[in-house]
Amino acid sequence: MSGCVFCSIVKGEIPAQVVWRDEHAMAFRDIRPQAPTHIVFISCKHIEAFEDLGEEDVDFLKSYARGVREVVRLENIHDGYRIISNNGRDAGQEVPHLHLHLLAGMNLGSMIAISNIDR
Ligand code: AMP
Repeated sequence: MSGCVFCSIVKGEIPAQVVWRDEHAMAFRDIRPQAPTHIVFISCKHIEAFEDLGEEDVDFLKSYARGVREVVRLENIHDGYRIISNNGRDAGQEVPHLHLHLLAGMNLGSMIAISNIDR
């Protein structure tokens, strides 16, 4: 979708530190990391939020699972990680293109949110 920063990353129009990708999904380092390891997993297709996923997106969901497995291995994450997805205004979703945040490399404590609300 034109004007979408994550679609521009998929097309290679905006640089990103890509750590993994396949035909349905990709993972890159967050530009404003909130943990030593902060990876964003996106859909290559423009999907705005989780509730917009349909039956036709099952291959993308399989890619998501494969991508997390691969990134955990590639990033040598052995002590755990947290996955968060902001959807919509109340969650503070800044980029309206479906994504997961993977955070690791520190004790994540009881923090269960990641958003731009407190930034
Ligand atoms: P959210 O608030 O869940 O929509 O998070 C969007 C995330 O995308 C934020 O953590 C941003 O730091 C990150 N982000 C925005 N633009 C870029 C970019 N060009 N490269 C990498 N990460 C980005």
